[in-house]
Amino acid sequence: MTRVFSGIKPTGHLTLGNYLGAMRQWAAVDQHRADALFCVVDLHALTVHHDPARVRRLSRQAATLLLASGLDPALCTLFVQSHVDEHARLSYLLECVATDGEMRRMIQYKEKAAREQRRGGSVRLSLLTYPVLMAADILAYGTDEVPVGHDQTQHVELARDLAVRFNQRYGHTFVVPRATNPSVAARVMNLQDPLSKMGKSDDTGPGIVYLLDEPDVARKKVMRAVTDSGRDVVYDRESRPGVANLLEILAACSGGNPEALAGVYESYGDLKRDAAEAVVEVLRPVRERHGELCADPGYVEGVLREGAERARGMARPTVDAAYRAIGLLPAG
Ligand code: ATP
Ligand code: MG
Repeated sequence: MTRVFSGIKPTGHLTLGNYLGAMRQWAAVDQHRADALFCVVDLHALTVHHDPARVRRLSRQAATLLLASGLDPALCTLFVQSHVDEHARLSYLLECVATDGEMRRMIQYKEKAAREQRRGGSVRLSLLTYPVLMAADILAYGTDEVPVGHDQTQHVELARDLAVRFNQRYGHTFVVPRATNPSVAARVMNLQDPLSKMGKSDDTGPGIVYLLDEPDVARKKVMRAVTDSGRDVVYDRESRPGVANLLEILAACSGGNPEALAGVYESYGDLKRDAAEAVVEVLRPVRERHGELCADPGYVEGVLREGAERARGMARPTVDAAYRAIGLLPAG
């Protein structure tokens, strides 16, 4: 059976981008067709300036929202990264396979390092090595496929490269994974700045729809989205990024396709109204279920405990094999 692994960082409140680009496919498709693991990757949240209490709170919230969006512990394994030591153990071995140059070429590193500096902070070394830990997350489980939004494709490529290099040097140890992306909404853009990705750790609140926004708040954000000059509704990401983003969001939420939908609308106003309603309707069941789950924190904790146990059992043999292959003396 295909092994699928993917994760989400507790760096902020989860967004419509996270949902349409990743979480929704995990629940609707991946957990049914594959042996799937989904992870709240909390160690990755420590790579940028963070508040310990907030990371803890957001980790619990992310796990709850993953369950609220339909992940079923009877079908998949849901767990928290720091509960399974194998990720950090394997990461060090992969640091001995990756190169400094490779890390510095990562687009996300350049973007996030610049942001940390803009915010007046220093750049943590872990931000540079982040993609290696992510490779460890993936390779520890013999993962075949990593369903992610477009922004993570470069990191999955790196995981591939490291798997191939390790296997060539030290003997076959890792499955070589590949990224998969959803066909629409693999890159939801910020509603106030449609040239930038909607990201949960960004500062521009009005351009980001959060999964837990009240319906009225979400509706207003979509209605106030920046559109482009010109008035006819066409789907063109290059010349009309704002309108293209709304068409993609509407298509992803209502099941259509963005080109066809462009032909249906005569004004930006109508497009925004329908996109706003579609977003509210898609998020409604997630918010409701989240409310129910919050009333039962013991359930979420139990899911995470069992998930971590299962994950540990899956990761340990692979990571132990990597320790032997690379030349470390077994403890006996
Ligand atoms: P951060 O700003 O901290 O990087 P993020 O919103 O980018 O947060 P991640 O935890 O990095 O979220 O990514 C979780 C998943 O959501 C990944 O699969 C990523 O590709 C996907 N994703 C993130 N943002 C978007 C987006 N705007 N559109 C589509 N998919 C997205
Ligand atoms: Mg991200």
